[in-house]
Formats: sequence, structure tokens, C-alpha cells
Amino acid sequence: MSRGQLPIAVPADVRRAAVRLVRADGRGFGAVLGLNAAAAGAGLAGPWLLGRIIDEVRAGSGVGAVDRLAAGIVVCSLAQLLLARWARYVGHRFGERMLARVREEFVDRALALPASVVERAGTGDLTARGTADVATVGTTLRDAGPDLVINTVQALFLLGAVFVLDPLLGAVGVCCLAPIAVVLRWYLRRARDGYLAEGAANSEVAEILAATASGARTVEAFRLGERRIRASREALEVSRRRRLYTLFLRTVFFPAVEVSYVLPVAGALLVGGVLHAHGAMSLGAVVASALYLRQLSTPLDEILSRVEQLQSSGASFARVEGLARAPQAGDAADSPAPSDDRIDVTGVRYAYDRGGEVLRGVDLTVRPGERLAVVGPSGAGKTTLSRLLAGVDAPSAGAVTVGGVPVAGLGPERLRRQVVLVTQEHHVFLGTVRDNLRIAEPSATDEELWAALGAVGAEAWVRELPDGLDTPLGEGGCGTDGSQAQQLALARVVLADPHTLILDEATALLDPTTARHTERALAAVLEGRTVIAIAHRLHTAHDADRVAVMEDGCLTELGTHEELVAAGGAYAALWRTWHGDPTDGSTV
Ligand code: ADP
Repeated sequence: MSRGQLPIAVPADVRRAAVRLVRADGRGFGAVLGLNAAAAGAGLAGPWLLGRIIDEVRAGSGVGAVDRLAAGIVVCSLAQLLLARWARYVGHRFGERMLARVREEFVDRALALPASVVERAGTGDLTARGTADVATVGTTLRDAGPDLVINTVQALFLLGAVFVLDPLLGAVGVCCLAPIAVVLRWYLRRARDGYLAEGAANSEVAEILAATASGARTVEAFRLGERRIRASREALEVSRRRRLYTLFLRTVFFPAVEVSYVLPVAGALLVGGVLHAHGAMSLGAVVASALYLRQLSTPLDEILSRVEQLQSSGASFARVEGLARAPQAGDAADSPAPSDDRIDVTGVRYAYDRGGEVLRGVDLTVRPGERLAVVGPSGAGKTTLSRLLAGVDAPSAGAVTVGGVPVAGLGPERLRRQVVLVTQEHHVFLGTVRDNLRIAEPSATDEELWAALGAVGAEAWVRELPDGLDTPLGEGGCGTDGSQAQQLALARVVLADPHTLILDEATALLDPTTARHTERALAAVLEGRTVIAIAHRLHTAHDADRVAVMEDGCLTELGTHEELVAAGGAYAALWRTWHGDPTDGSTV
């Protein structure tokens, strides 16, 4: 497991979450239980009436009495059928509502995750939880959960009926069921680990085969064939042993359970027979009890098969619920407000999860309103610094503050009024033009939206859209080209109105076809704000108020262009190279 993986809920949390889900729809759950109880109650009438028929016949009653009881059996069976259908329908709807709630909670929590947490864990983990794990939980809530409720109610009613007919026979039935509990315990204790190990062994085999196939040329070139074959054989052998083990578990479990179903019936017939012989019990009651206990095998079978499903989906639910334990993005309410617009970087060190230190003690103060260009060779840590400045991630040591408050601790609401990272964001979200803009400022009025569009030169084309601000964009809606998407992104920056922009030139606005259109829009957005540009073109540095040079995770030079050129250091060398051959100076 990698260090950054998203957390997994502990069993107590999973139980609490399950109870909370059921409580949230208490009436629905009550209806499911009530209808199932009614259906199970109607189902009990059959064997009881059959027992009555036997007693009536033995007492010498006429055909009329038997007919009436037989009609009763038909009516009760029909009632049971209808009630059971209805209960199933209500149960599945209940399951769907629970699933919807699980999904909504998951989306809310996923959206509240700080970007750094998602990046560290990898989007794969989040996606797997949101798709495969939620689907597993969904199947359980929709099918296994309601089925478990239905069958548990049925089993309890059947056992209860035997107790009503004769407590002694009821006790015999329960005692004879005990072996099932023992076998189930034995099986469950081993099954989870057994199946997990089998799954892991299968993955290992697949992994080895895939790696061998994709690296076939390397395998041939280095004559690794023999070694790969040996590794495959070993993995297959492990897989075979683990499969045999789970097969062994099943070969013990299923026959033992099948035999156990017969035990209560045999016990009831034996004890009931003795009681009847002594005149302590009617033949009808013995037959009815035996029938009830025989019927018990159907719900028990269902319960046992569902218990295992519940176990595996419990693991998925723990992964889905685990999101609640991940750190959430700070809330605007619980972080203090920055006192001014000054950005301070003090003693900042940073290391990615996999790798050594990338920033090794950076100190920098950015003055409000200035344009600072950060230059340096590739891999020096410029992009990493820009992520810390924008609050995407927090430094491992030291502090990045705005107005005295750590940037990474600001909630999204407050952060976007302070610092925004501008990248080549071409994404147009599904929704209207208004939806696309209000992401930045949910309470913006139409006048403000038009003003923002005007500021980035997008007013004209939006006015020409069929429904203006209400025109749907994105898939299925009105198409937008690259520069329009870029203008919308910049209009969002205008609406958020941060005092500082972090501009990563490596990814921002460098598409030559859109650059011409958006250059003026960008200039309008930069106007009057502090700009920290991660410069990949030296003329950006030349035009900046100050230039910071980064080398190998440290800030080595800081000053105006003229000062640095005069100082004759690394920047001066870069500038000379570029100035001597301007065509070769696109990147630093
Ligand atoms: P620059 O922007 O100056 O090219 P970066 O900040 O992108 O530098 O990278 C600095 C160092 O951090 C490089 O050695 C790079 O390999 C490493 N690095 C960047 N991103 C990651 C990451 N997500 N995980 C691990 N190492 C990274």
C-alpha cells in the first residue's frame, strides 16, 4: 500500500454508518419489516391448516370441514404471494434510496477532498472507490440487504410458529440448528482470508504474464525466458494451492449445511412421534411442526449465501466510508482571515512522497502588486513552488503565508479571493455559460458575469449565442473553441478576484493558435494584481519587476533584471546565451 492511499473506515465506523443510513429512512425500513412480517405470517397458515385437516380427518369430520380448511390454505397462499411481492418491491426501493444516499455522500466527500490528498493517493484509488466499490455496496443494498431482511423475518416466524405449536419441539428445532452455526463460524473465519489470498494469487499470475508479454523483446534480448517461465510456474503453483484450499472450505461447508437442514426435521419427528405416542400431542401438530422446520431450509439457505456477500461488500463499504476519515479542505469559518495581501515564503522545504527533497529551504517575500518571475533549469522545483504558493499543497517544513495565514489551510471560498493558479485550463463544464462562470462566484449577478466576460473580451460571442448566458455548453450543448474556453477560465479568475495570480507558463496560454486571442484577455486579468510567473520565456523575466532564480531546490539569485545581469551570475549567463541567439531562447 502506498503511503498516500486514502483511509479505510474501521469496523465500528462502518457499523455506525450503516445504522445512520437505515435511521435516515426509518419509515421506509419500518414498511419493509412490516410487509415482510405480514407475508411471513400468511405463509405460516398453510402448514397449520394442513395439521388441522389431519386432526379433523382423524376426528371423523365430514368433507365440508376439510374443504373449508383447504380453501383457507389457497387464500393464505395467495395472500402470501401478493404480500411477498409487495414487500420485495418496497425493499428494493428502500435499497435504491440508501444507495442514492451513499452515492451523494461519496460525491460530497470526494469534492471536499483537498487536491493534494487526491494527488497523493492517485485518482485511481478514488475512481475505484467511486465505481467498483460503490457498485458492490449498491448490489448489496438493492438485493442482498432486502433479501436478508425477508429471509430473516421468515426464519424467525417459522421458528416462532413451532414454539407456539409446542415449545419442546421448538427447543428441539433450535438445538438441531446449532451445528449450522458452528459450521458457519468455522467457514467464515477462514473464507475471507482464503478468498483474498486466492484473488491476490490470481492477480500475481496475471501480472507476471502481462509483464512477460509486454516486455517480450527484453526477455528475449537478455535471455530471461527460463527465469520468466520459472516465475510463472511458481505463481501458478501458489494459485493452485490457494484454489484447492477454498475448494476444501466449500466441500466441508456446503455438505455440512445440507445435512444440518435435515436435523431439525428429524429431531421434531422423533420427539413429536414419542409425544404423540404418549398422547401428549396431536398428529396434526407434529406434521405442522415438521413442515415448518422443513420450510426453514429455504430462508436459511438464502441467509447463508447472503452472509458471505455481506462480508465482501463490508470491505467495499469500508473503503467508501473511508473518505470520511480523509482530511477535508479547510473551512472558511475555521481559518483566520489574512491581515493583508503579502505573501511570505519562510524556510520552505518540500519532498514528494516518492523521492528526496525538491525544495531545500526557500525564503521569499512577494510585495503586493509586483510582478515576480521565477526562472531556473528544468527540475529546479519551480512548479513545486508554484503549487505551494497557490495552496494546492502544504510545505513539509517552513511556511507559505498570505497576510500571516498559511495558504494551504484556507478554505476554498477564502483561498480563491487570495491566490489563484492559472494554468491552460481548457475545460468547459457541462452546463450553461452562467453555470460555468458561477463556479468561481456562486452569488454573482448577471451584470457581474457580463462585466467579467467583457473584461476578457468574450462578451461579443456570448451575446451571439442562442440563449446568451443560458446557452448550454459542453457535450451536447454549444461547442466552444480553445480560445473561448480559455476566456471563460479567465472570466472565472476575474469573478473570483484574487489579489495574487500564480502563472505557470509551462502550462498556461502557450498554445500558439489561442495565444493571440487570449493574450489581451490575460493582460486584462493580470492588471492590478500581484503576479508570480513561473517563467519559461526569458522575455517574461525581462519584463518583470524582480527575477528569482531557482537552482536545485534553492533560491540562488533575487533582484531586478538589470541587477542580476550586472551581478554576472547564473541569470546573467542565461541572458547572454539567449540574447546572443534569441531563436534558441524559448525555454529556460
Ligand atoms: P521545475 O518546475 O523547475 O521543472 P518541478 O517542481 O516540476 O521543477 O520538479 C522538481 C523535482 O520534483 C523534479 O526532480 C521532479 O522530478 C520532482 N517531482 C515533480 N513532481 C513530482 C511528483 N508528483 N512526485 C515525485 N516527484 C516529483
